[in-house]
Amino acid sequence: PAAISMSHVSKIYHSDEEGDRTALADINLDIAVGDIFGIIGLSGAGKSTLVRCINGLETYQGGSLRVRGQEVSTLDAKGLRQLRQRTGMIFQHFNLMPSRTLLGNVELPLANTGMTRRQRTERAQELLDLVGLSQLAQSYPGELSGGQQQRVAIARALANRPDILLSDEATSALDPNTTKSILALLRDLHDRLGITVVLITHEMAVVRQICNRLAVIDQGRIVEEGRVFDVFAKP
Ligand code: ADP
Ligand code: ADP
Repeated sequence: PAAISMSHVSKIYHSDEEGDRTALADINLDIAVGDIFGIIGLSGAGKSTLVRCINGLETYQGGSLRVRGQEVSTLDAKGLRQLRQRTGMIFQHFNLMPSRTLLGNVELPLANTGMTRRQRTERAQELLDLVGLSQLAQSYPGELSGGQQQRVAIARALANRPDILLSDEATSALDPNTTKSILALLRDLHDRLGITVVLITHEMAVVRQICNRLAVIDQGRIVEEGRVFDVFAKP
């Protein structure tokens, strides 16, 4: 089954000063449940637009974009909320709240879910455990390394038990060794929890290290798609 499927998706930004800009043009893409799918492209290729469309943060004009079989453009406010709960996101700059402890950060998405305070704390502690930071629950983001902060962001992204994790340049601000350990963590979470992982990146090495499939996007178009093994085997 498809986790995410796109057929003829397009997105044009209108601007009075700069005219129309095509960010996505006729995108066809199938991401299967259980994939670790890489979407690679240069800056400005359309990767972030694609992610925002998948999460319903941006509208698309043409075509069909289904997440878990549901057409994103038809979702109401409640549907969008559920879509985002079941689709965890991590970013380049971690986006943690500096005034909250790690535990407090991971608890945030559990607010208004009907859990008691105690259940939220237990769940957040469990999630910190999952990413190897249980000892640092009472620390603050500013006391951590970049790699540790990204682990916290991953824990927070998993709080509502998503079945899809979207990573938008999540290792771009990290050094090569830290990148390796974060990618190893993502692969481990994929294997243990059965989540589908979508990795947006401009770094070929990232895709090579953990993805099973990839799509190359250039100027809003998919120019190459397939198994990582086959794509890299090409002369
Ligand atoms: P990437 O994430 O691959 O760097 P983006 O999705 O951010 O690419 O951008 C794709 C194209 O759409 C670029 O030409 C960019 O300038 C344009 N674009 C992105 N967001 C907007 C916006 N909010 N308004 C107008 N143009 C945008
Ligand atoms: P167990 O080892 O107890 O059978 P799992 O291996 O499925 O459980 O999960 C290990 C931990 O990850 C548990 O704490 C569980 O609550 C949590 N977990 C399971 N699935 C997800 C998910 N999709 N997102 C976040 N956490 C999850």
